Amino acid sequence: MDNVAFLSLGTNIGDRLQYLHGAVQALWEHPNITVEDISSIYETEPVGYLDQANFLNAVLKISTSLSPHELLDVTQGIELQLGRKREIKWGPRTIDLDILLYNDENMETEKLIIPHPRMYERAFVLIPLKELGVEVSERTLQGGVSLWRQKNGGDVFGLFESLKDTHKKVLPEI
Ligand code: ATP
Ligand code: CA
Ligand code: CA
Repeated sequence: MDNVAFLSLGTNIGDRLQYLHGAVQALWEHPNITVEDISSIYETEPVGYLDQANFLNAVLKISTSLSPHELLDVTQGIELQLGRKREIKWGPRTIDLDILLYNDENMETEKLIIPHPRMYERAFVLIPLKELGVEVSERTLQGGVSLWRQKNGGDVFGLFESLKDTHKKVLPEI
């Protein structure tokens, strides 16, 4: 698990906490991924397409033996498992998993751009990234984001542990 990556999670349909939890659990159970840290959960007003519900957002730090493209396959598989449909650009979604950073790499292919090209303008990404120890410019930390549920000190799984067993009932095998 030599590579360190940061993933952003966003959800604004249905039981948002349950979708966040489902994504965390699926990553957590993946044999080639270790979830190292999870930010607090933030509530965010929609951007881009405004006529939709508020989002919950969080960022995860993982270590992984997967390549960036393999990791994208896994995150897109989890999105599908959790009912993600692509209908409206930047529209409502059960879960969105983006790869923000992968080591210090810069890459651009048809399917994958790292660092995520829009992360530096998104407070809902930068605030939780900063919480996990990534240096970000203060200038960009503004507007539309509020703390929804605070991370529990050093307890990585503090916000999700209690749902761990119950979630198995709704999350199909991945
Ligand atoms: P945004 O990318 O602005 O956050 P979005 O998350 O709603 O918008 P999606 O429909 O989820 O966009 O993704 C569109 C495509 O972006 C994906 O099919 C994927 O191939 C590509 N992509 C490029 N770079 C990344 C990345 N770093 N993480 C995730 N997907 C990426
Ligand atoms: Ca996104
Ligand atoms: Ca995405």
